[in-house]
Amino acid sequence: MKLKVKKGDTVRILAGKDKGKQGKVLQTFPKSGRVLVEDVNIIQRHTRPTQENPQSRIVKKPAPLAVSNVMLVCPGCNLPTRVGSSRDAQGTASRVCRRCERSID
Ligand SMILES: [Zn+2]
Repeated sequence: MKLKVKKGDTVRILAGKDKGKQGKVLQTFPKSGRVLVEDVNIIQRHTRPTQENPQSRIVKKPAPLAVSNVMLVCPGCNLPTRVGSSRDAQGTASRVCRRCERSID
């Protein structure tokens, strides 16, 4: 699955408990169609006490969410937008904002 969102992009969350939030993409998972977004979809992991770590703790960390639940925020018009693609004279594909037609890459 090819994702229209890349690491370092800013995205708006469209669904779930963090709906309406914006965050930076930390990682993408093209195979599962998921993205990891900074400070979004935080889950609590309870760690069991171990020999090295006798205290059980609750670790908060972001969990990946489906790319269909996020929308890319265009750096040009600063709004969530659909992404198109275009090719330049050299045949290199780049992403463009459907609102302002500005190249995103
Ligand atoms: Zn734009």
